[in-house]
Amino acid sequence: MNTSAAPLPSFLVDPDKMHFIDGAWLASASGQTIETRNPATGEVIARLARGGQEEIDLAVAAARRAFEGRWSRITPSQRHGLLMRAHAIMELHGDELALLETYDMGAPVSRGLGIRSFILKMIEYFAAQAMNWGGETIPNSLPGQFTTMTIKAPVGVIGGIIPWNSPMVGAWWTIGGALATGCTVVLKPAEDASLSVLRLAELLAEAGIPDGVVNVVTGLGAEAGAALAVHADVDRIAFTGSTVTGREVIRASASNIKRLSLELGGKSPDIVFADADLAKAVPGAAMGVFNNSGQICYAGTRVFVQRSIQEEFVERMAAFTSTLKVGSPLDPDVQLGPLISERQLSRVLEYIEIGSFEGASLAVGGKRLTGNLAGGYFVEPTVFDNVDNGMRVAQEEIFGPVMSVIPFDDGEEALRLANSIEYGLGGAVWTDSVSTATRMMHGIKAGQVWVNCYGQMDPAVGFGGCKLSGYGWKGGSEHLEGFLYKKAVTISAN
Ligand code: NAD
Repeated sequence: MNTSAAPLPSFLVDPDKMHFIDGAWLASASGQTIETRNPATGEVIARLARGGQEEIDLAVAAARRAFEGRWSRITPSQRHGLLMRAHAIMELHGDELALLETYDMGAPVSRGLGIRSFILKMIEYFAAQAMNWGGETIPNSLPGQFTTMTIKAPVGVIGGIIPWNSPMVGAWWTIGGALATGCTVVLKPAEDASLSVLRLAELLAEAGIPDGVVNVVTGLGAEAGAALAVHADVDRIAFTGSTVTGREVIRASASNIKRLSLELGGKSPDIVFADADLAKAVPGAAMGVFNNSGQICYAGTRVFVQRSIQEEFVERMAAFTSTLKVGSPLDPDVQLGPLISERQLSRVLEYIEIGSFEGASLAVGGKRLTGNLAGGYFVEPTVFDNVDNGMRVAQEEIFGPVMSVIPFDDGEEALRLANSIEYGLGGAVWTDSVSTATRMMHGIKAGQVWVNCYGQMDPAVGFGGCKLSGYGWKGGSEHLEGFLYKKAVTISAN
């Protein structure tokens, strides 16, 4: 693919990127860097500063100073005002940031529009929340005259560790909560996709967010990420990433008994009953897997199909999948871009081999794309039929565009199979029957269930997981609770 004709975001003109600490760019003390590649071409597009303990110490100290200064005591109206300024920045620069993600992690430009509008809704919601949190007055039964109440206060310095699959959304969950409550933030974006987060921090500083409130340290997980997770002056870690890393973050958080939220991996069931409207269920289930090339934590990769419609469903799914346009993410018609890295491409291709080896039948896809896409990390959207729920392709998170179709006979069996998994992030049911939908809605063990749709999200509703998919809730009225702590106050009038 020739990117030379594409509109290179101005942020990429200088490929050497530093940390953003206390409102200024700062190089790594070690001088070491990490190459970041455009996954559509394999070309190096930037060099990130490789941060470690020293840079994390500086960023945490800056965040602490800002928190202990005026920031944590600004009024609700000022917090609201700053969030609305951030909203204006996202309206103005949303396209530029989305384009950066297209270069950095291969998100198609068509996806960028949706991401931009989701982030604007997030900020609107946080701005509304910024003026709405507080404690309560509670009647008590103490002898004498006492007034009892709870008040809330910002937790302090929040470490936000985010994955590569949607960096700006990941960053905003933490930044938005911090701006709405008076916390400060040190972000550690993923080494494969840090550029939009760095640019966002710069834009927020230009918009008047005080120095030290939003800091970004780039680097490897085992170095910068681990140093942040264990840091004694960080009050809470908001972690989004794999379950394996989540466990390490739990261990590291024991150092100072940090508060934690853990949004981890998934392997979500999507159940299609014979009475479903296949004209909706086929594209719905397909995009529940193939959106963002399958690099979505709640992807409905285990598609349970009632046996009586299995043949028709798979035929229609294969036909639909073949129409999907895979290619340069800069092409506005492209629906699936590349995978994030060569490593992720190898992982996905290996799982495709494992699926065939385990005896699943390949209905469509299965190959790396070559020709003019050979330099990038592109793989065909892939559907396996006749998958057994015990196979690795049905149990392990692949994080690529690979669907497993697993047949079932009745609702009871569907639920048993759907819940036979370590994860509990998403789930869906496609049916015409209210009673079937209701049974599945109650029966699927997951943080969110969709009925006759897949993947719709609203910041006011929120999002979370159970089982090995973690705990904590992003969005909704509970989101800010993670950024606040509660005090009980008793006032004597005796
Ligand atoms: P990952 O766990 O490898 O990395 C996530 C982040 O953690 C990165 O910034 C990484 O540098 C950092 N990290 C790595 N090792 C660390 C350590 N020892 N200490 C502290 N930080 C460390 O995950 P990934 O491959 O970047 O992302 C894909 C995973 O994220 C998938 O499992 C996906 O399901 C999950 N995810 C979950 C959600 C959710 O909301 N539940 C959303 C998006 C992605």
